[in-house]
Amino acid sequence: MISGITAIVGRPNVGKSTIFNRIIGERKSIVEDTPGVTRDRIYAKGEWLTKEFRIIDTGGIQLDNQPFKEEIQMQVEIAMEEADSIIFVVNGRDGVTKDDEYIASLLRKTNKPIILAVNKIDDTQLQGDIYEFYSLGIGDPIAVSGVHGIGIGDILDEIINSFENVKHKDYEEMTKFCVIGRPNVGKSSLVNAILNQDRVIVSNIEGTTRDAIDTPFKQNDKNYVVIDTAGIRKRGKIYENIEKYSILRAMSAIERSDVVLVVLDGESGIREQDKHVAGFAHEAGKGVIIVYNKWDVVEKDEMTMNKVEKLIRSEFQYLAYAPITFVSALKKQRIQTLLPLIDEVHDHTLLRIPTNVINEVILDAQLVTPPPSHKGVKLKIYYVSQVSVGPPTFVLFVNDPELLHFSYRRFLENRLREAFDFSGTTIHIIARARE
Ligand code: GDP
Ligand code: GDP
Repeated sequence: MISGITAIVGRPNVGKSTIFNRIIGERKSIVEDTPGVTRDRIYAKGEWLTKEFRIIDTGGIQLDNQPFKEEIQMQVEIAMEEADSIIFVVNGRDGVTKDDEYIASLLRKTNKPIILAVNKIDDTQLQGDIYEFYSLGIGDPIAVSGVHGIGIGDILDEIINSFENVKHKDYEEMTKFCVIGRPNVGKSSLVNAILNQDRVIVSNIEGTTRDAIDTPFKQNDKNYVVIDTAGIRKRGKIYENIEKYSILRAMSAIERSDVVLVVLDGESGIREQDKHVAGFAHEAGKGVIIVYNKWDVVEKDEMTMNKVEKLIRSEFQYLAYAPITFVSALKKQRIQTLLPLIDEVHDHTLLRIPTNVINEVILDAQLVTPPPSHKGVKLKIYYVSQVSVGPPTFVLFVNDPELLHFSYRRFLENRLREAFDFSGTTIHIIARARE
């Protein structure tokens, strides 16, 4: 359970990405002593005192040739939309600048908790420099040195404190799904088509910051939440088309979902970007459904569906388990098949197999194809146990985990898939040495 999301804002070169990297626990490597060094990551996991949270480095979402004010406005807007609290970084060496004052004026209008980090306070002699930042009207300044790792613990404490009043909606009992894909594949159209079906009742739940993208609804007495990465109400802000930002949105939506609909566009075909997006869903271990949209404009004969399916399977080999469905959001074709498919895939991600049954299947598998040997030592599987769901995860207790090679692991996975219906979900197989 993530306790919240925080976002870093501030003018260029104050040390945002240095602090970001400190907070996520990765030393140096990314930041060098050159201004404007490109960032590898802008969205990451942080952990403090057993609490897990997410952090966004808004400075990494850059527009080309954008005047400072627009750049900053974008940072603040993204932080406001995506985060529960904001870390405002200033440079203690520079003192309060006009730009800092401008940012503070924007931040004072938000009602989110703001943590004021005065960076580049590399030694205690500089401590006195932080007090003038009270004039920003943001609250208590915290002395930090991103480079030396000073004050990071204080910032982490404040991050965790800032989530105290974050209300988490009671989504537990609901099936949460998101719709991801590159721009213009039809994500918004698809969400609208789902929500405009007969007997879909859009409900209102008291909520959090991300109401704009979460829509709870009900059909046939089942509760769902659709997380719309495209924005049902498209706002048309320039930055929404920045790839990094759309990736960040997709990642955070995937994280909060049980099932991910990966939308492909039948009109323009499969592109490189589709594979990146689908890769996130797979790596997150969520249920995945491939939705081939705009089926209405595809020229078809009786072979077309087969051909497209083959193409998808060869382009997305890691998603061999994901069902493929052909729809038209525009013409509302086959939209009614989506919720039942989402339910089914969600169930599969939560499937628990009784221990004796799973052991029987693995034993049978070994009789069909005995485990491989390496340098005269044969892999021995003593027993199997399912340790978790979402995705289903199995631990094989073996003589030596190194002996479980890729091909045998895949063979076992296939046997499990033949024995149980895991369609739509990845399954994890872990080998562990028996004590
Ligand atoms: P950003 O543009 O706000 O993300 O800033 P960066 O993290 O890229 O840092 C800008 C510059 O400030 C780099 O040269 C960093 O090495 C330097 N810097 C960052 N934090 C500190 C610090 O705590 N002390 C000092 N002296 N320099 C720092
Ligand atoms: P998003 O950027 O992924 O949210 O895509 P949109 O939902 O905004 O759709 C992009 C364009 O594709 C719009 O012009 C839609 O009308 C069109 N579109 C969406 N779904 C379909 C479909 O099933 N068939 C056809 N022909 N056009 C579609």
